[in-house]
Amino acid sequence: MPDRVYFEPDALKYELGERLRGEFAARGIPIFMTTSHNRVTKIPGDTRREAFFAAKRTLVIGVRRSKDFQTSKPSADYALPLVTGCPGHCQYCYLNTSLGNKPYVRIYVNVNEILARADRYIEKNAPKETVFDGSCTSDPVVVEPWSGALRTCIEHFAQTRYGRFRFVTKYDAVDGLLDADHRGRTEIRFSINSEYVIKNFEKAVASLERRLNAARKVAEAGYPLGFLIGPIMEYEGWQAGYTKMLNDLAERLSGISPTSLTFELVTHRFTPKAKRIINEVYPQNRLPMDEQNRQWKWGQFGYGKYLYPKDTFEELRDFFYRRIPAFFPQAHILYMV
Ligand code: SF4
Repeated sequence: MPDRVYFEPDALKYELGERLRGEFAARGIPIFMTTSHNRVTKIPGDTRREAFFAAKRTLVIGVRRSKDFQTSKPSADYALPLVTGCPGHCQYCYLNTSLGNKPYVRIYVNVNEILARADRYIEKNAPKETVFDGSCTSDPVVVEPWSGALRTCIEHFAQTRYGRFRFVTKYDAVDGLLDADHRGRTEIRFSINSEYVIKNFEKAVASLERRLNAARKVAEAGYPLGFLIGPIMEYEGWQAGYTKMLNDLAERLSGISPTSLTFELVTHRFTPKAKRIINEVYPQNRLPMDEQNRQWKWGQFGYGKYLYPKDTFEELRDFFYRRIPAFFPQAHILYMV
C-alpha cells in the first residue's frame, strides 16, 4: 500500500490509469499530478535516508515512452519494461546503482503498447524464440495486485508462437496469476537465499516461507518454475547455510513435479555508486563491500563493478554445480555469474 501516488496526465488517458486513480482515491491515499516523474516533489524527508525510505513508498503512474527495449543477458533476450523500482529494502539491491537517486516505484499503464513493441521483436527474430524478462528494473509481483500487468503479459505471450516470458520475485502475490491462460510460455522464478543473507540483508520482502508457498502454487498451476539464488555470498559457514537452503527447498517442493525447473546463480557484486548510496541509506549495513577482496570488471552499461575474485567464484561454482544436481536431478542450471 503506497503512502502517496503521482499520476502523469497522459496515464489518465488509459483505462488502467483511470481505474488506479479511482482505487487509490477510494482508499484515501494522497494523489498528486506531475508533468513528469522527474518532477516528483512532495516526497518528504530532510535527509537522503529519509527521502529514500519515503520514495520507496511512493508510486508514480505513468506512460512508458521509450520504444526500444534493453537487452537482458544472461536471463533473457530483452527486458520487458512494465515497472521500475521496488518498495523492498534488500540492502544489496542492484537497483541502487541504476535507480539510487530515484527509488520511487513507477507503473506503466500502456501495457498493450509495450506488448505491441515486444511482438515486433518476436517477428524480427522468428523462427528463433525471443525471451523477455519482466523483472530487470523492478520486482513486478509486488505491484501486480494493482496493475495486473503480469497477467496481461502472461496471457499475451501464451498466444505467441515464438515469444516467451519470465520474471523473478521475492514476493508472493501470485494468486491473481494462478488461473491465467499461460500455456507454459511463462516461467515464474523466485529469488531465494540462505537464512544468513535473508536475515541480515533483506527487509520489506516476503519471507522465504511465503516465497516457497508461492512457488508451490505456481508449480501446481502448471507454470515452469525457476529459482534464482542470489546474491550468493561468501561468509563464514556459507557451505552449511546454502546446503540447508537447498535441503529445505527440496523438502518444500517434495510431491510436486514442475513442468520444468531451472536455477540461476548470481554472486554478490557491487558498484562504487551503489556502495556510496547503500552506506548513506543503510549506515549500519554489514554487506561485504571491501574492494581489497574483490576483482574489478567493466559492465554492460558502461559502469564497472566489484566481483568476487576468480578463486572464490570457482569455489562457489563448484559447490553449487555439485549440490544442485544432487538435490534436484531434474533441474537445469542455466548460468552462474
Ligand atoms: Fe531489489 Fe529485488 Fe529486493 Fe526489490 S526485491 S529491493 S528489486 S533485490
